[in-house]
Amino acid sequence: MSVVDRQEWDVVVVGAGGAGLRAAIEARERGARTAVICKSLFGKAHTVMAEGGIAAAMANVNEHDNWQVHFRDTMRGGKFLNQWRMAELHAQEAPDRVWELETWGALFDRTKDGRISQRNFGGHEYPRLAHVGDRTGLELIRTLQQKIVALQQEDFKETGDYESRLKVFQECTVTRILKDGDRVSGVFAYDRETGRFFVLEAPAVVVATGGIGKSFKVTSNSWEYTGDGHALALLAGAPLLNMEFVQFHPTGMVWPPSVKGILVTESVRGDGGVLRNSDGKRFMFDYIPDVFKEKYAESEEEGDRWYEDPDHNRRPPELLPRDEVARAINAEVKAGRGSPHGGVFLDVSTRMPAEVIRRRLPSMYHQFKELADVDITAEAMEVGPTCHYVMGGIAVDSDTAAARGVPGLFAAGEVAGGMHGSNRLGGNSLSDLLVFGRRAGWHAAEYAQAHPRPPVDDAQVDAASAEALRPFSAEAEGEAGPPENPYTLHQELQQTMNDLVGIIRREGEMEQALEKLAELRVRARRAGVEGHRQFNPGWHLALDLRNMLLVSECVARAALERTESRGGHTREDCPTMERSWRNVNLLCALADPSGGLAATDPARGQIRLTRETTDPIRPDLLALFEKEELVKYLAEEELYE
Ligand code: FAD
Repeated sequence: MSVVDRQEWDVVVVGAGGAGLRAAIEARERGARTAVICKSLFGKAHTVMAEGGIAAAMANVNEHDNWQVHFRDTMRGGKFLNQWRMAELHAQEAPDRVWELETWGALFDRTKDGRISQRNFGGHEYPRLAHVGDRTGLELIRTLQQKIVALQQEDFKETGDYESRLKVFQECTVTRILKDGDRVSGVFAYDRETGRFFVLEAPAVVVATGGIGKSFKVTSNSWEYTGDGHALALLAGAPLLNMEFVQFHPTGMVWPPSVKGILVTESVRGDGGVLRNSDGKRFMFDYIPDVFKEKYAESEEEGDRWYEDPDHNRRPPELLPRDEVARAINAEVKAGRGSPHGGVFLDVSTRMPAEVIRRRLPSMYHQFKELADVDITAEAMEVGPTCHYVMGGIAVDSDTAAARGVPGLFAAGEVAGGMHGSNRLGGNSLSDLLVFGRRAGWHAAEYAQAHPRPPVDDAQVDAASAEALRPFSAEAEGEAGPPENPYTLHQELQQTMNDLVGIIRREGEMEQALEKLAELRVRARRAGVEGHRQFNPGWHLALDLRNMLLVSECVARAALERTESRGGHTREDCPTMERSWRNVNLLCALADPSGGLAATDPARGQIRLTRETTDPIRPDLLALFEKEELVKYLAEEELYE
């Protein structure tokens, strides 16, 4: 039996982004001794990269805004596949979460009369995104971090120990959720710097690990996005919901190659930027789908007037939901009307004075100047779609954030599924983190108070240690074939997902992807590393590969199964949104429910897919929409009811 350090906590939060920190604050404030564990440095989570803002119907800039309008926009954006109760709670609670951030010290940009300013974003009927220039995520994390430190100072006064009730384990990776029977008993983790293993014992674990973008070659996501939380939940027996829905943001940098995929925030379009093809045409007017026709301008003049007078004009089609804009850009490039480096042009230089651009979009100005030597106040940017966000995730209860089927497991933030349906609106993630981070922390604390800490099974700790050490002995273990380089495997995985399960999908290609994933799984068994456990990035990647391969199989299988196009899932061979699919969820679970991957043949699929019917949408929420609109979305039997 390996000797591994152990500590006892009430709640363990895996992840220190917006969702994890908000969950930890709530759990601690409700009396639970709470540990936060994260892969990167405290304060460096992916949330820091969020630029545009936090969506919340505060009605500061347009008095007509309210939670019902926000709810409607969110459901439309998600093409009505959203877990509607989550969309309702999110729209209702987001304003309080923003105001609360302000009381904790966040410094938002202001309107002329001193209120929190709100900006336009795709799919939002009114200006709704509270923001701090284009560095909103940084301010959000800074504020939550400061709140955590304040709580630790309170604890010090009372107990003489800053970390007595709230402790952050930074640069540590969780590789397994431990269980006692069905329920959670803690997590197994390693310290990335020393390679030392340890266990945090707890009756409640909140997973808040973010997304999966590093399985794709072109992505806006940071190195942490290897789908760990998704895989941890699967391995612990919790199903993932609707994993086929991956958002490709329409505007990532396309040049130079070293920065391909880095995000160009939607605020550029929200503040007046326009998209043009190589003929100089504002092509988005040709791509307004029927379901959105009534809400978007028919001419450039009307679209331009909307910025000054939104009550009497319709918004420009550059502000359609992201999936629509990404597909339109893809089509223009394919038709030979792209920019020199395979994107299209995004122009603010002819739309705003240089000093306004530098003030409103400071990060974008510096990003292009430094990375591409382009001055966006004088010339257009070149942009194209980039893998950005995963709508699919751990299936959770809408009110409590409890993961389905595993008592003691909770999930919040990008790793949780349901909230955004088939496509997320910009700004709705940061608000999601705050609303459901708080709910996850609250219910995890309540759960921990009601349930004694379960015993941790030594055999599971030993198995987790052996699994983590395997890359050091891949060769010696006699697997057939030479050892494999984890970096090569990762590159092949990224290329496969990009080319075969990317923005436009086809049946034959997805079948090919599943075959390639099977081959990669077999080879990943031989992923070998040299050296020792002290900071060894090759070893870290070898461990992350298990997660990326599992999650990629979920995406490919679910995408093959859903024979329609909806939101972030576009099938060239099934191009229309089918009403018969409106009320169908796809759930991915581990084919071997014991969670023992080592015992299963990697050449065979490791994911089992099932269908379930969604909960009927509550009638008072349906009543917020016009009947003619519902007819476009709802399944036949739902309309009848
Ligand atoms: P993260 O902030 O990613 O936190 C995940 C945490 O989990 C990290 O601390 C990580 O270290 C930790 N972790 C992961 N795996 C493990 C493991 N195995 N063990 C231990 N710890 C682990 N959304 C908006 O609403 N508005 C915007 O303006 C906006 N702009 C964006 C701009 C960019 C460039 C990008 C890429 C995204 C943007 N988004 C925006 C999306 C939004 O930023 C993310 O969806 C959101 O920040 C995710 O937050 P999270 O708390 O779920 O996860």
